[in-house]
Amino acid sequence: MNVLLIHPPSANPLLDKVYMHEPLALEYLGAGLKEDGHEVEIFDARLEGSIEKAYHRFRPDIVGLTAFTSHVRIVKAMAENLKRLDPDLLVVIGGHHATVSPEDFNVHGIDLVVVGEGVQALREIARFAEAGENFSAIRGLGLVRAGAEILLTEARPYTPLDALPVPDRSLTRRHRKHYFSEWLQPLASIRTSLGCTSRCNFCALWPITGGKYLRRSVASVVDELKGIEEPNVFFCDDESMCDVRRMDALADAIDGAGLRKRYFLYARADTVVSCPELFIKWRKIGLAQVFIGMESFSDERLGRLNKGISIAQQRNAVRYLQDLGLIVYANFMVDTDFEKEDFARLTAHIRELELQHVGFSVLTPLPGTELYRQRRRELVTENPELFDMVHAVLPTRLPLSEFYSRMLDLYTKSLPLSQTVRSLARFGPLRIWKQLALLSSFSRYLKKAHLET
Ligand code: SF4
Repeated sequence: MNVLLIHPPSANPLLDKVYMHEPLALEYLGAGLKEDGHEVEIFDARLEGSIEKAYHRFRPDIVGLTAFTSHVRIVKAMAENLKRLDPDLLVVIGGHHATVSPEDFNVHGIDLVVVGEGVQALREIARFAEAGENFSAIRGLGLVRAGAEILLTEARPYTPLDALPVPDRSLTRRHRKHYFSEWLQPLASIRTSLGCTSRCNFCALWPITGGKYLRRSVASVVDELKGIEEPNVFFCDDESMCDVRRMDALADAIDGAGLRKRYFLYARADTVVSCPELFIKWRKIGLAQVFIGMESFSDERLGRLNKGISIAQQRNAVRYLQDLGLIVYANFMVDTDFEKEDFARLTAHIRELELQHVGFSVLTPLPGTELYRQRRRELVTENPELFDMVHAVLPTRLPLSEFYSRMLDLYTKSLPLSQTVRSLARFGPLRIWKQLALLSSFSRYLKKAHLET
């Protein structure tokens, strides 16, 4: 069968200028389908024009779409459009939002919703479709029913990660040079684990695996890394360093294999503080950048998020990693209950940490999270496109325009321009210019964000 896998366009195209990761989940799906003899193409709508053209050229029997919450309306429209082109087309949707809220896709244009891990599910769907069999025997599916509730089949247990195929990166060959994360380009992504051992209440990742931390063997990760051509590699785990012994062994194995690349991964502040020697080892084998979710400026607020770290750990982690010469990319949550004093305290905290790269997200109760269960009734909108961590979907204590104006100030006041320019100098004048242009576009966008909420 011909299977077209689609990564949707971003709900907020401005974010495509900050990072654009390869559609790794689709490369996994494609690898599984190709093993079974199907023809597969990946359409990356962030980089390609007309889906109609791709449809007419490839003539798929099955289309698979993936979606985060912010993509819900976009993929529903794409599905409808594709069904109009060909009413016999089998349209399947999977990914994060399908897993946490399958009923949101119980609409015309979509036939099947994959709940949970999709590689085996899609292989079975293609096999059943070819044989003309009923999909209700496939585990982990939502069967879309016009005018009735979605019919969920028996849940599918997660496939052990080592049993999954190696993602087929040849499916994105024509786009690979465009995948990046700020200064890291070209950038490949690799997944070595799934889930997290922590329990942050705003996080939609750990609930997906029922709180389990699934991990790949060191040998399989090294084998995959050997096949990656890009010089930069992003570990797109939900949280890479949960199992420090495994990561220690992985560093040794990467070193032993003679792999020389630049790595970017997620780590928690408490892991850095409790296992500093792990980061020395990773620095030696190419770790260049660490993303840390700092989230807030006080122990009390960190406790409310169930973050499980302290301000003292934040300080020590930043100092430690920056002394090692690593780039620390820190992210903070801007709570919608912020008063102007809270914005000032956050600014002061970031200055005190002497961070060089920060990002801010509006605290958002994403479907599937504890926070969503606690605060669902307070939501001011159900529009999924606004669940992008930029728009405030809970009521703000400050007037909305002031909230965004102070959020904009966070970018300029917590990192003085001279400091930003100094820290970017290592990447050359072009990168400095690009970052400043991006900051300016983002400022213009934030100034108007209150009008969309
Ligand atoms: S540490 Fe990160 S991945 Fe783990 S629960 Fe918290 S936010 Fe989620």
